[in-house]
Amino acid sequence: MMRFGFDIGGTNIAAGVIDERDQLVAKDSVRFPCGEGNQAVIDACAGLYRKILDQNAIPEQAIAGVGVAVPGSVSPREGVVVDAHNLGFHHTPLASMLSDVLKKPVALINDADAATLAEHRIGALKGTQTAMLITIGTGIGGGLILNGELFRGGRDNGTEPGHMVLRNGGRLCSCGINGCAETYCSATRLGKDGAAFGKQNAREVIEAAKEGNEQALALFGAYIDDFGSYIASIINLLDPERIAIGGGVSGAGSFLLDPLRADAEKKCFFETCPEIVIASAGNDAGIIGAGLIVS
Ligand SMILES: [Zn+2]
Repeated sequence: MMRFGFDIGGTNIAAGVIDERDQLVAKDSVRFPCGEGNQAVIDACAGLYRKILDQNAIPEQAIAGVGVAVPGSVSPREGVVVDAHNLGFHHTPLASMLSDVLKKPVALINDADAATLAEHRIGALKGTQTAMLITIGTGIGGGLILNGELFRGGRDNGTEPGHMVLRNGGRLCSCGINGCAETYCSATRLGKDGAAFGKQNAREVIEAAKEGNEQALALFGAYIDDFGSYIASIINLLDPERIAIGGGVSGAGSFLLDPLRADAEKKCFFETCPEIVIASAGNDAGIIGAGLIVS
């Protein structure tokens, strides 16, 4: 049977169909109906579902079920989005609302967990029993593979690796706590600190550092120092086989990975570092991961 996945974001709703070999065989997207209420989101999802099936001549009977990834906290057992601020969902019974319209079983997952699942099944974490995905973007997201399976939290809350405190009393995080890893290791940090010497964002800082600009190199060095400490702490907690780095900053490739590995190796408790690699499931990881939770 095929499975259908939605990746609902604050700008777009992306969706697609995965086949028996976990390959994405059809996809499309629509604008997220911002500020128009929950019913408008359900209508947009239903329209996208029918459009994708129609355009690809996939009969509804071929779809075993539907998975939905959302940027926020979900209760998979209850089928409720507890909080997804960007989407306007608060204690929203999204699974039953969608299931009523699509006439299919619907399961929910956090978007970072969906990306982790996709990396584990088809990407950079394939074949591991203990591994972690860390996604470096505006914030930090990620997920954990334990004993060969996605770990969704002991109390159903998932994991929030971006909000481990890296510096007590440090920079104020969007979550309201000071010193979260996200405030030192995200792309936002590079952009913010790079503004002092005229750089607009992380990409410009990294480009300048590659060209040998001294201020950019000093900032990138401080960033690697923080990021290395963060990765070393994760290694000490889990002793993972592999850590995959995703998100915009991972586009820097070996310019990021080589010094990061060296720094983490210096700081981690163990004699050697696990593999640290670039995530490879790509932009559709959310859709694929959502489809993968359909049983
Ligand atoms: Zn935080």
